[in-house]
Amino acid sequence: MDLGKLQYFEKIESNTQKEFLIEQNNCILCAGPLDLQHIRVESTGEIKEETHCPHCDLRTEAKTHSLQ
Ligand SMILES: [Zn+2]
Repeated sequence: MDLGKLQYFEKIESNTQKEFLIEQNNCILCAGPLDLQHIRVESTGEIKEETHCPHCDLRTEAKTHSLQ
C-alpha cells in the first residue's frame, strides 16, 4: 500500500499539490492505487479531483477544493 503512495509522489511536480495526496483513493474494484488528477476550474478557481484506475478503466470525479 505504501508503494502506491510513493508512485503518486513521483507523478506530482508541485509541492502544493502534494498535500492533496493525503486524500488518495484506491479503486473500489481492484483496490489498486488510482491515478489522481487535479484539474483547475478557471471559472470558479476550484481544483477538481478526478481519479482513474488504469487496471479497470474506472473513472470517478471526486470532490473539489477551493483555493481560498
Ligand atoms: Zn481498479
